[in-house]
Amino acid sequence: MLAHQLGLGDFKTVNRLMLDSPKPEWVTSAGSPSGNQKLLWPVPEGKLWRGFNQARRGAKHRRKHDGIDIGAPDGTLFRAVENGLVAYSDNGVRGYGNLLVVIHPNASVTFYAHTKALYLFPGQTVKRGQVLGEVGHTGIARGSHLHFEYRVRGRPRDPIKLFDQVILPNYRHAGTIAR
Ligand SMILES: [Zn+2]
Repeated sequence: MLAHQLGLGDFKTVNRLMLDSPKPEWVTSAGSPSGNQKLLWPVPEGKLWRGFNQARRGAKHRRKHDGIDIGAPDGTLFRAVENGLVAYSDNGVRGYGNLLVVIHPNASVTFYAHTKALYLFPGQTVKRGQVLGEVGHTGIARGSHLHFEYRVRGRPRDPIKLFDQVILPNYRHAGTIAR
């Protein structure tokens, strides 16, 4: 099995991806980029709840937040922001609940956490826009949302400017909302 050959799928895989670049053979196996300059917003109906390193509403102090939170009802489908290789699909990382990790052809890595269900296994490749699973509230999560992280060389980056669109909390109409 590809995942086993590449050393994907276990806690050590995620641990490395939180500290360092993906192994070169992982990036090679991630396929080709889609050609889109922007990342796809991962939850079509989901709204931005909390930004990168932003405090929770009502919280006195700014707390480290390694990603963004996208609110959506339990069971809402979420999708891949770009082509890539599934590195992890399990619930062994404390706080994250059911977690899917994807390595992209440019060596960036995305995390999809607190999910209700995951549809893919480590070693599988995914296409931009492919459904990966369902939004949920597993792990340490207040309410149903997707916690999304974008990492480069292990470091979390603010992904907000990288998306093709961002759906803000006051969004009410169908269509695209500008940032
Ligand atoms: Zn979060």
